[in-house]
Amino acid sequence: MYDENCLFCKIIKGEIPSTKVYEDENVLAFKDINPVAPVHVIIIPKIHISSANEVNSENSECIKIIFEKIPEIAKICGVSDSGYRLVNNCGEDAGQTVKHFHIHMIGGIKVGEKLL
Ligand code: 5GP
Ligand code: ZN
Repeated sequence: MYDENCLFCKIIKGEIPSTKVYEDENVLAFKDINPVAPVHVIIIPKIHISSANEVNSENSECIKIIFEKIPEIAKICGVSDSGYRLVNNCGEDAGQTVKHFHIHMIGGIKVGEKLL
């Protein structure tokens, strides 16, 4: 369930403080410590899945639940109408630094049409 060396698992357990914007039994969303936009929220499952590469039929329910909660999290963050970008970094080339599956919700600015 948890990986004791994982930063985001420590945030779930409350061992590392975070500014939470949404929480339920399956999902936690908190403000990124180093935001790239006025709204930059990290959305994570409460079970440890190290990356998108580790999603499978056994654990995908929590990924589904995350996506079901995204409209509500976007509303809470005030970007529901203005729009937002969802980003998942997987692995080295994508620059994944925390090995716990997460989605960045980025908004509050015109992020534009280009991905890179
Ligand atoms: P990645 O680069 O793995 O896709 O994203 C990891 C994100 O986690 C980065 O945007 C980084 O700023 C954020 N982050 C790293 N450590 C902490 C922390 O201790 N607290 C919070 N709130 N965000 C963190
Ligand atoms: Zn973890």
